[in-house]
Amino acid sequence: MDKEKLLMIPGPSPVHPRILNSLSLPTVSHVGPEHVAEMKKALDNLKKVVFSENGEPFIVAGAGTLAMEMALLNIIEKGEKLLGLSQGFFGQRMAQITQSFGLDCDLIENEWGKAVLPEELDAKLKQEEYKAVVSTHVDTCTGACAPVKDYAKILKQRDIYFIVDGVCATGGIEERMDDWGIDVILTAAQKCFGAPPGLAILVFSQEAMEKRRRMGTIPAYYSDILNWLPIMKDPSKYFSTPCVNEIRAFYESTRIVLEEGLEKRFLRHARVARSIRAALTALGFSIYTQEPFLADTLSVIEYPEGVEDQSFRKTFAENGVIVAGGLGETAGKVFRMGHMGNLSVSQVLFALDALERTLSSVGYSFESGSGLEAAREILEG
Ligand SMILES: *Cc1c(COP(=O)(O)O)cnc(C)c1O
Repeated sequence: MDKEKLLMIPGPSPVHPRILNSLSLPTVSHVGPEHVAEMKKALDNLKKVVFSENGEPFIVAGAGTLAMEMALLNIIEKGEKLLGLSQGFFGQRMAQITQSFGLDCDLIENEWGKAVLPEELDAKLKQEEYKAVVSTHVDTCTGACAPVKDYAKILKQRDIYFIVDGVCATGGIEERMDDWGIDVILTAAQKCFGAPPGLAILVFSQEAMEKRRRMGTIPAYYSDILNWLPIMKDPSKYFSTPCVNEIRAFYESTRIVLEEGLEKRFLRHARVARSIRAALTALGFSIYTQEPFLADTLSVIEYPEGVEDQSFRKTFAENGVIVAGGLGETAGKVFRMGHMGNLSVSQVLFALDALERTLSSVGYSFESGSGLEAAREILEG
């Protein structure tokens, strides 16, 4: 069998042995006491991760895209306008979802590698009336992190719902739902929680819940949060069979997050991000994403002269590390390296050592050990 490879793509992230072990336990009844207890604790922990006291958490079989759809369909209705703040691929997906349901969406799109500035949001809101604003927190394609806290400040002064796509951020980068005034945070299990893929995860504020109730019937059934609400309140009730094993694994992932401590976890993500970028810069690579928008959860890195995408990623994989290529206009020019979830310092050092070995074997000339040393200074300093 192939030796296990370190998964450093922008999600799924490596799954911790504790979470893998939880997946090997027998499937239990979806309305029985074990699942009820695990679901309740997972929902409670989820609220803690987004700093929400009063929000309504939802955990549903699916993935990030279902969570995006659920967030939108339960907040906006025909005749209302949504504003999307896009810094790449997933902002565009928000607009595509609204189109599929005949909903009205304007996008502020940026050149890739940047996020929308708070001033730009403010200016747009002065021109046009919107019911809700949706922002990608971290775009997995461009590595750009949006100033979500600043957006929230602007939206708080107006009567506008704020939806945050935290799929590549929640649990790795701070998101204070109550304090900042976010109405919906949506995410998935496989990115910063480090659980296996399979879940759509959301928290709605009480204001957002009231808005949903006022909407009456919506063009959704499985995605209708009012169908799920009774189950989230009392998981012994049935609506549609929950994936009990995945939920157990997700619960375990939230325990790991909270045992580490949120502040510590955010700092670890920041430090690991800086160390990886320092190593790559020392080796002659440049960072694609613009400086003020760098995300702590992944890096998008431009190849220097003499390193070819396909052979680099293939050799890197042979050396034990899987990274992703660029998408769209960046294909062939960059690689994307995820560093989110439960990545340890020794895994980071292993990856950078494998990177140097890879560069040697593809014939790139650099000062041996310089990447590792730059990273060590940050990780151990
Ligand atoms: C990965 C990702 C998604 C999509 O999640 P899926 O689980 O692949 O459907 C949405 N938004 C962002 C920001 C992501 O990183």
